[in-house]
Amino acid sequence: MKKFLCLAAAALLVFSGCRAENKKSENSQASKDVFAMDTYMNLKAYGENSEAALEAAADEITYLDELLSVTNNNSDIWKINNSAGNSVSVNNDTAEIIKKAIEIGDKTNGALDITIYPILKEWGFTADDHKIPDKETLAMLLENVDYQRIKLDGSIVTVPENYQLDLGALAKGYTSDKIMEILRNNNVESAVVSLGGNVQTLGRKPDGSLWKIAVTDPFSPNSAMGIIEIENKAVITSGNYERYFIGEDGKIYHHIIDPADGYPADNGLVSVTIIGESGIMCDALSTALFVSGIENAIDHWRKNNDFDMILITDEKEIFITEGIADNFENVSEMNMEVVTKE
Ligand code: AMP
Ligand code: MG
Repeated sequence: MKKFLCLAAAALLVFSGCRAENKKSENSQASKDVFAMDTYMNLKAYGENSEAALEAAADEITYLDELLSVTNNNSDIWKINNSAGNSVSVNNDTAEIIKKAIEIGDKTNGALDITIYPILKEWGFTADDHKIPDKETLAMLLENVDYQRIKLDGSIVTVPENYQLDLGALAKGYTSDKIMEILRNNNVESAVVSLGGNVQTLGRKPDGSLWKIAVTDPFSPNSAMGIIEIENKAVITSGNYERYFIGEDGKIYHHIIDPADGYPADNGLVSVTIIGESGIMCDALSTALFVSGIENAIDHWRKNNDFDMILITDEKEIFITEGIADNFENVSEMNMEVVTKE
């Protein structure tokens, strides 16, 4: 029962956190809560230098939040979104994220498209003022959505007039990569961060065991559907339960948009969890493969060797890739199938 309570509370927080409390005296542990990028973040690091390392990490979060925000009129993204077709010189971090977004856009046939911002605004997801747009408006706005028209030349970005970017699909993953870099540079060997449920780990737990990370049950988002054991990896989930509204027609409309038609993606998936070494790749892919749907997601995994994934379908089935299956415990009632490379 105790374990169950711990699990239920975990809801995408680090499962081991419940136990870490008891270990405070054995290991010097630092913990920090930050609200940034519109979400709650928790950072935990172990070892001598952990306190100072987390201070530096929190500063980096604040810096990236300001740099990438769509609403802060000093941010790189704001400058691009108000550039009226002119070139904008951006920071290296911004350029690196845009470069990765274009690369993953290409690899996923445009399922990831960071020029989706005008559509998100129309649905009211940016201002929490939700509405169902009409088809004609979406069709018109989609004319200004195409990541292939972003020009990136070093750190100079040019987008056509009326194009607007939103890096929400991969900014948190980039941020957790940066945090790992800072912690490593500060000689921290064991850490775990959760940026609004997007988890990334450094090394192993201080006792030498693997980190245990809870994966949210999309059908009951306050509880876990499984526990995954990892080291040195990110576990990043995109789900239809994370941000949504119920329309006047009684239907649920969520925040992951299919750039093909401007509507919330409806390709059979309710959540996609990506596990891999690169936070930015895991974050970008979780959003992209959610849009791509089951077959395309599996196809993408078969062609690439740098990640594993857990797909949950709207028919309550779990598909897990073979690279991670032995490190995953399904605690849900859902049926689970292991996907192989063939
Ligand atoms: P995530 O929670 O990582 O799946 O990211 C979802 C966020 O990415 C949304 O809240 C939007 O800001 C943005 N977004 C939604 N659909 C797309 C898409 N197809 N391509 C790129 N970004 C998207
Ligand atoms: Mg994402």
